[in-house]
Amino acid sequence: MWIVPESEIAGLMTREAAFDAVEKVFAAMATGDAYNFPVVREAIGHADALYGFKGGFDRAGQTLGLKAGGYWPNNLETHGIINHQSTVFLFDPDTGRVKAMVGGNLLTALRTAAASSVSIKHLSREDAKVIGMIGAGHQAKFQLRTALEHRDFEKVIGWNMHPEMLPNIEKVATEAGLPFEAVELDGMREADVIITITSSFAATLMADNISPGTHLACMGTDTVGKQEVDPVLLSKATVFTDEVAQSISIGEAQHAISQGLIAEADVYQIGSVINGTHPGRESADQITFFDGTGVGLQDLAVAASVVELAIEKGIAIEVEI
Ligand code: NAD
Repeated sequence: MWIVPESEIAGLMTREAAFDAVEKVFAAMATGDAYNFPVVREAIGHADALYGFKGGFDRAGQTLGLKAGGYWPNNLETHGIINHQSTVFLFDPDTGRVKAMVGGNLLTALRTAAASSVSIKHLSREDAKVIGMIGAGHQAKFQLRTALEHRDFEKVIGWNMHPEMLPNIEKVATEAGLPFEAVELDGMREADVIITITSSFAATLMADNISPGTHLACMGTDTVGKQEVDPVLLSKATVFTDEVAQSISIGEAQHAISQGLIAEADVYQIGSVINGTHPGRESADQITFFDGTGVGLQDLAVAASVVELAIEKGIAIEVEI
């Protein structure tokens, strides 16, 4: 078995490799070559932790396994380590033997950033110039950094419920040589692409806060009850997702579905656009919407990619089990 420790991931994994791995696995999901297992998420009644598993099998990439982990709210204060903790386990699909154990914390950030950027590449207008960020926490920095590599953006605008956090994303814009402006929510009308990445439980972005032709990637809603945008907005958009079953139950579409504003059949897999079986954006005025819920196959794809790199570079640790 190979071990790739968390401490080695930053030196091995690139945003480009994460993007390629996620784009490929979304495509495989749409052809039926890859599928996700039902998600397990439990409040374990210890340390206030939420713990669970996200797994799947990708026949095309021959990747089988799971990500185990979750959220320990007291970690930072009590143990000096980050609250989100995860580890990916890969198995040999021919024998069931464990193949690799990989630190999953940075990989989760990179695979989530890759997902919104895959949607930007395939659904936003090619002439998009202004990117709007709603959210300015840990994950927002990753989402923005990767997004800037997929269109020739000229300006970043941002809104956050806690404005004191906006310098987090301003720094990313500045490093990329782009101007940054903090705006009110109706200022988002200037944006050609909007990413939402918050832990909100109520809609903040309203349907009249966006302009025709915008592409939205909503990434924060990954649990029942979470919500970032006005459900009416989904009824005005063409809606895509990583995994339809998750989108309508734990993703942003859960609200539009429960209010009867859209039906399950109105939600398309992003992989079908990548594969060319769905046309994706068909006009400059169309609003496109990506509901990024986060699937186990994304984790397995980036983990498999990093194991390959680690073996190549002699960094992976081999142990007999
Ligand atoms: P974080 O704690 O670092 O940042 C949270 C962000 O949400 C901040 O911008 C904060 O100001 C904002 N926020 C907090 N409460 C809010 C509220 N009531 N209304 C509006 N905004 C509020 O967290 P993070 O690591 O950046 O993660 C952000 C979200 O993304 C979380 O909900 C997390 O579960 C989700 N996430 C999704 C995926 C995926 O694959 N879709 C992957 C990782 C994280």
